Amino acid sequence: MLEKDIQEVLITKEEILAKSAELGKQLTEDYAGKNPLVIGILKGAVPFMADIVREIDTYLEMDFMDVSSYGNATISSGEVKILKDLDTNVKGRDILIVEDIIDSGRTLSYLVDLFKYRQANSVKIVTLLDKPEGRVVEIEADYVAFNVPNEFVVGYGLDYAEAYRNLPYVGVLKPEVYQSN
Ligand code: 5GP
Ligand code: MG
Ligand code: MG
Repeated sequence: MLEKDIQEVLITKEEILAKSAELGKQLTEDYAGKNPLVIGILKGAVPFMADIVREIDTYLEMDFMDVSSYGNATISSGEVKILKDLDTNVKGRDILIVEDIIDSGRTLSYLVDLFKYRQANSVKIVTLLDKPEGRVVEIEADYVAFNVPNEFVVGYGLDYAEAYRNLPYVGVLKPEVYQSN
């Protein structure tokens, strides 16, 4: 039913699962013996978080945070609002942030600074998607599953007006979907 709104599938579920397994192997090596705190950024990171943690074979803990970016280019990179904070104290912890997509880089730049300020031992980022052309703030993920072109994508956690997060692939919406809103 949702498929009728999709113009093009960019990344299939099979591709995401295969890449998650590959990244998971690397993360298993990199976090061996460390008990990392894996932090999913709500809500977009939830499907990818579920995939990636099941591919990491070390002790780990999970927590979630919800932030909203004002998304205004005239506002500095610090303008991110915490909607739900962590339950866990990050002091001394090895943090792995799980994101759905890095676009301008504002959200992650804010979070990395926040966790460093809270005295995390290390902070790394794994993201399902990276849109390098959208970058406004200089920040790179340590682990990237897929690069995407500079267009608006939905699915696998990513929404348009809170819909389409449950699509089992990443795709581009038909233009008429925006125009009808
Ligand atoms: P940044 O702070 O890097 O600009 O923003 C990242 C957030 O913007 C993502 O977590 C996501 O919520 C939203 N975003 C950026 N690009 C896209 C996109 O192509 N599609 C969707 N659905 N959300 C996006
Ligand atoms: Mg996000
Ligand atoms: Mg959104």
